[in-house]
Amino acid sequence: MNENPPTASNDWCDSTRSVHAGEVRQKPYHSLIDPVVQTSTYVFDSYEDIQQFIYEQNNAIPSERLDYGRYGNPTVRVVEKRLAALEGGQAALMFSSGMAAVTTSLLSFLASGDHIILTDDCYRRTREFGINFLRRFGVESSIVRMGDYAGLEAAIRPNTRFIISETPTNPYLRVLDVERVADLAQRYDLKTLIDSTFATPINLRPLDYGIDLVVHSGTKYLGGHHDLLSGVVIGAQEYVDVIRDHVCTLGPVADPQNAYLLLRGLKTLALRVRHQNDAGMQVAQFLAQQPQVEEVFYPGLPSHPDYATASKQMKGFGGVVSFTLRANLEQTARFIDTLKIPYITPSLGGAESLVNQPALMSYYSVSAEERAAIGIKDNLVRYALGFEDASDLIDDLQQALCVLQNQSMAVAS
Ligand code: PLP
Repeated sequence: MNENPPTASNDWCDSTRSVHAGEVRQKPYHSLIDPVVQTSTYVFDSYEDIQQFIYEQNNAIPSERLDYGRYGNPTVRVVEKRLAALEGGQAALMFSSGMAAVTTSLLSFLASGDHIILTDDCYRRTREFGINFLRRFGVESSIVRMGDYAGLEAAIRPNTRFIISETPTNPYLRVLDVERVADLAQRYDLKTLIDSTFATPINLRPLDYGIDLVVHSGTKYLGGHHDLLSGVVIGAQEYVDVIRDHVCTLGPVADPQNAYLLLRGLKTLALRVRHQNDAGMQVAQFLAQQPQVEEVFYPGLPSHPDYATASKQMKGFGGVVSFTLRANLEQTARFIDTLKIPYITPSLGGAESLVNQPALMSYYSVSAEERAAIGIKDNLVRYALGFEDASDLIDDLQQALCVLQNQSMAVAS
């Protein structure tokens, strides 16, 4: 009987890893499914048991033994092993949210007097943390336009520690040349952190190109069902150990119930992402042919500025399609109201298609001038595909575009 197989074979393909990586064959109570270990602490049998635990800790002897919930949980550990295997990293660490993964990972390595570089078109709260929050603790930051690699190099200072970027970005789906950035960082002895939430490990594995740390909002594609919040960081063991130690102090730990839901979601990750890649391409190609659509932003279209990089580095182009309409802010909002299948909300990556108008949703608290400066157009729509059939989503978009056209004609006449 195969009682103790490897946590993941390097030969396994994406779907096999999604289902099996990180599990042990013989689970408690002969259960097929990894149990939810719902406990806040772990008991010791005796004084000898404690001595053994301390000995293992002090001598860095690998052990599954735990003493307290903030320091680890068996259900969470399975998720971490599975995600490390999927991303091709030595180790992973699960968090209570994507932002917990971003902030704790950076706080683990930065100190007052350091400098970081962020690319623009990044998640609003990451930008807020990188610029305003860290400034209060003496960390300086520079923002460089996505795709401006000369600008990225020019922004490096003697005290620069990190290059932080996302790929594909939100909402314009810009794609970073991760190999180029990893090479640049290695030349200047900088660390790199890439938020790969939109890519998923099925479409891109930044660590394979020399990136140091990958983070995800597990709330999105990894969970895949719009029913949990979580985050993860993946990288070399030595880096993840440093971050784990800070998690023990800062406390943004993952909950075992969430770990179970994430584990369940991960089993279908490869299946889901392949469907969303396929449907995303069909929807993008459809939109690109519509007269009421001004511009489509999808890295799988040759018209996208990063099509060459995306084609070179990504296995698929993802399930988010952004586009601008030949319409103003209000007409764009009405178009979204007319759609029958997607729900109007932020977020992405689960079963239900979601749609939003960034000018009204993520950036509602920002003035029109500031929005324009960041590049958020009034007529921009972000459409995050779920698991529905592309033909149904396209029919729905078609009917909403017809309504938009009729309204425009009525106004013109
Ligand atoms: N990174 C990206 C690219 C995101 O889109 C988000 C949330 O939308 C986050 C990080 C933050 O993740 P969470 O909401 O799980 O904290």
